[in-house]
Amino acid sequence: MMTADTETFVPLMKRSKGFDELKKLVIDQGICSGCSTCAAFCERITLDENGQAQLAEGAECNMNIGAVQCSDEGTCYDVCPMVSFSKPELEKEFFGDVRKDQDLGYYRKIVAARSKKKDILDKAQDGGAVTSILAAALEAKLIDANVVTSRTDEWNTSADLATKHDDLIAGAGTKYVRAPATMKFGKSIRNARKIAMVGTGCQTLGATRAITSLLKDTIEKTKESDTPLDFTLIGLFCFENFPYGCIKEALEREFGVKIGDIAKTDITRGKFIITKHDGTTDQKPVKAFDECVPEACNICTNFTSEFADISVGSVGTDDGWSTVIARTEKGEKLLENAVKLGYLETKDEVNLEAVKKNRSIKQMKFDATSKKRKEEDKFVPEYD
Ligand SMILES: Cc1cc2nc3c(=O)[nH]c(=O)nc-3n(C[C@H](O)[C@H](O)[C@H](O)COP(=O)(O)OP(=O)(O)OC[C@H]3O[C@@H](n4cnc5c(N)ncnc54)[C@H](O)[C@@H]3O)c2cc1C
Repeated sequence: MMTADTETFVPLMKRSKGFDELKKLVIDQGICSGCSTCAAFCERITLDENGQAQLAEGAECNMNIGAVQCSDEGTCYDVCPMVSFSKPELEKEFFGDVRKDQDLGYYRKIVAARSKKKDILDKAQDGGAVTSILAAALEAKLIDANVVTSRTDEWNTSADLATKHDDLIAGAGTKYVRAPATMKFGKSIRNARKIAMVGTGCQTLGATRAITSLLKDTIEKTKESDTPLDFTLIGLFCFENFPYGCIKEALEREFGVKIGDIAKTDITRGKFIITKHDGTTDQKPVKAFDECVPEACNICTNFTSEFADISVGSVGTDDGWSTVIARTEKGEKLLENAVKLGYLETKDEVNLEAVKKNRSIKQMKFDATSKKRKEEDKFVPEYD
């Protein structure tokens, strides 16, 4: 029951923005990236068939049922990568310093890497660097589990917790379809302590926001315990990621195939390339799939997954190799561990100009999209 005291006290407290504000600014305005971070930490939020956040059936945001504050601006709002916040502040919090290179983000070391394990190379997208780093980390018990993005024969995706070498291999390879990796990451805290996640730029950025806010105290409190909570983020270079329904239809139409006939997909040098189960390949300009590119990807400059312990992509290295950016001390150690345990070979030849060029194309898209959105009086996130 409200007393006279609380009646005068409550209006003075700051009210969190919560899901209504997130919906108004991000979801209703078409820039939810489907990263799923909001759904990781609030049981009232679920995802629709395209991976977009929505309130669970019959659920109401805490803010609307009497809570004045949830977390600072509301859990969902505090972790969303598509609202405005300061990236320099986040860099100081996560890396302890700000970036020296605008295009590549904060980093300590960049190498080309290739797996030395046949079982990994057979299944991997490029040099198998991601799966090798994780497999070596699992062997050395530096991680207990990792969130991988798996797929069905029909290329629909799911986020799964891999705890064994074979699970990691089963999850290898790129899927150009969204999956709720960050949601799985957040919900896995109940099942594992040293948790890694592989994700695209928006997913790892969402996870970084959670690690530096909501999870910060819990990480600190468990530091001296026998089972400290520890998180590792492996980011993927990413230009765009597609909702399943749209890309399935477009692939089948453009290539004249059933999606289940496709064994591997690759987007490289402006081409969408498919390899079928019979070994034949076909390609189309990636522009042919523009109708499926979410607005969130056009308003994102985070090509190299700038907030992660390690970021990995294909641009910048020869075919069959991966470009690996170790951003944190932990990331450097994971890379060294994979080399030491014989999972990975590395060399210094990386074409950084190629990586920067891709980043600048994303910047140009961002500039054009944000200009248009501003003219239409739509929200554009600011990250200064
Ligand atoms: C949507 C998307 C777009 C990309 N665009 C580019 C690009 O434009 N330029 C570029 O250089 N690189 C891009 N990449 C990265 C590239 O395709 C490879 O994933 C990267 O080079 C790592 O290769 P690897 O052989 O080391 O990885 P692997 O050893 O094969 O491991 C790949 C890892 O990525 C995870 N994964 C696969 N699909 C997804 C997904 N949809 N979401 C989250 N995790 C996933 C897998 O579970 C696995 O853990 C993109 C990746 C994705 C997912």
